[in-house]
Amino acid sequence: MKRLGTLVISIILLMNFTAAYAWGPMGHDVVAAIAEQHLTKKAKKEIAKLLDGKSIVYYSSWMDSIQNSPYWEDGYNKTKTWHYANVDKGLTYQTMPKNENGDVVTGLEFLTKEMTENYDNLTDSVKVDYLKMIVHMVGDLHCPMHAGRLSDLGGNRMQVKWFGQNSSLHSVWDSKIVESARKWSCSEWVDQLDRTDKNFKKSVMCGTYEEWFVDTVEGAARIYEYVENMDPERRNLSYQFVYDFSPLLEDRLLVGGYRLAYVLNTIFK
Ligand SMILES: [Zn+2]
Repeated sequence: MKRLGTLVISIILLMNFTAAYAWGPMGHDVVAAIAEQHLTKKAKKEIAKLLDGKSIVYYSSWMDSIQNSPYWEDGYNKTKTWHYANVDKGLTYQTMPKNENGDVVTGLEFLTKEMTENYDNLTDSVKVDYLKMIVHMVGDLHCPMHAGRLSDLGGNRMQVKWFGQNSSLHSVWDSKIVESARKWSCSEWVDQLDRTDKNFKKSVMCGTYEEWFVDTVEGAARIYEYVENMDPERRNLSYQFVYDFSPLLEDRLLVGGYRLAYVLNTIFK
C-alpha cells in the first residue's frame, strides 16, 4: 500500500511537472496533426524516414517526456528553458531581459539553423531529436501562457479556480481549457479547425519565430488583463472564460499547426 501511495504521489508530481512546461498532450497533438495535413511530399518522406515510420503527432510531447529520462542527463537538460520566453507586463520579447540559457525563440532558431545549414554534419540520431524538439517547440511558441510574466513564472504562480478547483493560470492554458472547450478527439479537432482558405494559410505560413511570438505575447497580455479585472477573491474561471477565449485557443492551435508545416517544409526542401 505504501508503495502504491508513493507511486500515486510520483505520478501526481510528474503530471504537475509536465503541466508547468507545455501545452498538454492534446494541444501538441492537434498542432502536429494539423501540420501533417500540410506537409509537402518531400517533407513527409524525409520525416517518415527519420522517425522510422512514426508520425510527428506520435512524438509531439517527446520533449516533455525526456525531462524524466536518461536523455536529460545526457546533455538535454540545457533545453529546460526552451519551452517558453517570459515577458513581463509592459515589455516585449525584444525589451525583456533574455534568459541566458535560451528560450523558445532562440532554441527554435538554433535547431532550425542546425537542420538547414549544418544538416549533413549531424548524426541521424541528433537529426531525429532536433526534429522532435522543433515539432514540440513550435506548439509551445504559440501557447499564450508560454509568453507569461517572469514575475509569476509564466502564470504558474497566479492562482485561480477552474470550475471551482484550485489551479494556476498557466495550467488552465496548458491543458484544462483544451479539455473543457470540446470533448473532441485529436482528429475531430483537426477536422473542425482546419477549414480555412488558401489566403489565410498564405498569410500565416511565412515570417520568423520572433515575429510569431508577438501574437503569443499579445494573447498572454489579454489573458492577464481579463483575470486581473476579476475580483481576486472570485477568480473562478469556467464556462464564460472558455467561451471568451475559445477563438484565441482555436487560432493558436491552427496557426501553430500551419506554421509547423511551414518550418518542416522549409527544412526538408
Ligand atoms: Zn513544452
